[in-house]
Amino acid sequence: MKVGIMGGTFDPLHIGHMLAAEAARDSYSLDEVWFMPSHIPPHKHEAGASGADRLAMVKCAVEGNEAFGILDWEIVRGGVSYTIETVRSLRQEYPQHEFYFIVGADMVEYLPKWHGIRELVELLTFIGVGRPGTPLDLAALPDFISGKVLLADMPQVDVSSTALRSRAASGRSIRYMVPEQVYEYVQRSGLYGLQPRSAD
Ligand code: ATP
Ligand code: MG
Repeated sequence: MKVGIMGGTFDPLHIGHMLAAEAARDSYSLDEVWFMPSHIPPHKHEAGASGADRLAMVKCAVEGNEAFGILDWEIVRGGVSYTIETVRSLRQEYPQHEFYFIVGADMVEYLPKWHGIRELVELLTFIGVGRPGTPLDLAALPDFISGKVLLADMPQVDVSSTALRSRAASGRSIRYMVPEQVYEYVQRSGLYGLQPRSAD
């Protein structure tokens, strides 16, 4: 079984995340993609949503898509989670699975700085997708990394969680920039400075 891991803070989860996951699944015939929200230390993220709310948004987004699932380990464990530690546990838990880690261009650029990257490239393959604002340049990476990054095509969407948080905080609409169920959850829960209101 081929499984893509879509890691992120998902604060909030938006259509860029969904398209990246689907592009990777489609391009490399992945059986499933597991969305893995990371824990964020509370002091780092005053304007953001709680782990419980971020996890709830991921649930809203994957509901109804049989190929999409959730891996909540990092949220449940709390504290700092290095991807390498999570991936080691994944390999132990699912020794028969083949894992892929999906990353946007801004993350690809930082791969050389990832904790345990030399071991990580032995344990899985990365799938990189384009993202406006950062060129996706594999030639800039050391060979031991670029040899383990596949590319997947997706329509470029200039959406980020940071921009969505500030849009919402200034009273502008984020509808259609996030999946509809996520939009409803954000409204219902009054996240990002929106006034809570029941879905109508
Ligand atoms: P923030 O602004 O809070 O950093 P974000 O929009 O970058 O949020 P993350 O949760 O940090 O979202 O990203 C998770 C993963 O999704 C990363 O690998 C990131 O590169 C990728 N990603 C996020 N937005 C896009 C997008 N618009 N297009 C392609 N990939 C994206
Ligand atoms: Mg980001």
